[in-house]
Amino acid sequence: MLLMNGPGLRNDEHKDIDTFKLCMAESGFQIKDFLERSSDKVPKFATATCAAGAAAGSFVVPPLRPDYLSELSPASLLAPGFVRSRTVLAEEKGETSSQPAAGARIIDGKSVAAQIRAEIRSQVDDLKSQHGTTPGLAVVLVGNRTDSSTYVRMKKRAADEVGFYSVDRTFPESVTEDQLLACVHELNTDPKVHGILVQLPLPQHINEARVLEAIQVDKDVDGFSAQNIGNLCLRGGKPPLALPCTPAGCIELLQRSEIEVSGKEAVVIGRSNIVGMPVAHLLQSMDATVTVCHSRSKDLAAHVRRADIVIAAIGRAEMVPGDWIKPGATVIDVGVNSKPAPESKKGYKLCGDVDFDGAVKVAGAITPVPGGVGPMTIAMLLKNTVNLARHAQGLPRLPLRRKATGT
Ligand code: NDP
Repeated sequence: MLLMNGPGLRNDEHKDIDTFKLCMAESGFQIKDFLERSSDKVPKFATATCAAGAAAGSFVVPPLRPDYLSELSPASLLAPGFVRSRTVLAEEKGETSSQPAAGARIIDGKSVAAQIRAEIRSQVDDLKSQHGTTPGLAVVLVGNRTDSSTYVRMKKRAADEVGFYSVDRTFPESVTEDQLLACVHELNTDPKVHGILVQLPLPQHINEARVLEAIQVDKDVDGFSAQNIGNLCLRGGKPPLALPCTPAGCIELLQRSEIEVSGKEAVVIGRSNIVGMPVAHLLQSMDATVTVCHSRSKDLAAHVRRADIVIAAIGRAEMVPGDWIKPGATVIDVGVNSKPAPESKKGYKLCGDVDFDGAVKVAGAITPVPGGVGPMTIAMLLKNTVNLARHAQGLPRLPLRRKATGT
């Protein structure tokens, strides 16, 4: 874990709390538990944010003021037992909710993502020591949407943590399209930048497609460019230089959980450019027989019932009930939704597109929300950046698909 310089916690308090909460949600830890354990002498948000960074094993801890540090050192925050996962808590309370007795294996995206980040850290070290290059990621943020700022902050922390060179370009909501295009062109020509990420959505007066198209394909770290998507879809085409992060994260989860894909029936619910469409092509390239469903599909239940692998990327809270799931199937739930939870302080909690409590009883393996696909997205962004840096050095990319017939 790394302590870094940055904006002071006091000035940035509310934003850090947002980031912390998102980190916590993504990494599946309980906020209440941390707050109860916080020392009265230390601001609770600082303690909790630090603990969240440690718990996730991947988020960089925001700077603590020296006087806070003198009261409670980061080492004591990291002491064994201070940070405990939901699983450990459930076990301590004698609950088995996160590992149901007769239910599915839980695919733990948080730990897979942590493993990938550790691999990336060592790949970055190799690139630095053996090839004299440091992967560089530029993040362009426009306006002050809380969700965008939070995601950008998380991405930057993750990039710092694995040792990337980072560039931030932040613009007010009033930025012109020409100014943004000029920024992208400048980053295109910066040899220290290997990946350019423009956080979406952009304000209405900006032509989003035009800005994204301006990113050079060999710096398209999100893998959204027509050339990268085209190469992903072509059989026997060139390997894409980068793959859309969330779909790539789904595939990593399947592969690292030893889920057989070849010859299986896969049903993808959702056909968006960023999730449904690319993940369907990836599965097909791994020899699955793929059905893509969407809002006009008839009898969705019948499609899902014959699926060995279900990828839900809809954006509708718990729309897929447990009794649609074929016994033993693998469920990858991409959805991030909220549902009312009067017992929680906020009055809501995060949930996926699949009814987890129902599906976990019949599925063979399932991702939770939070703590499933979510943590994988940033891990794959880091992997894409390393691959683009490797490409710039003329080195082969780190492969995603182990059993692909195409790329
Ligand atoms: P989009 O809104 O772009 O796409 C949703 C898809 O679901 C569309 O193809 C739509 O069909 C389909 N759909 C909507 N309603 C139904 C229905 N009743 N029956 C069948 N299909 C339906 O969403 P995204 O792909 O961007 O995201 C999907 C979910 O994944 C969201 O919850 C999002 O928050 C989450 N997400 C999570 C990420 C992560 O890192 N964990 C990253 C990205 C997204 P049609 O095409 O006909 O409109």
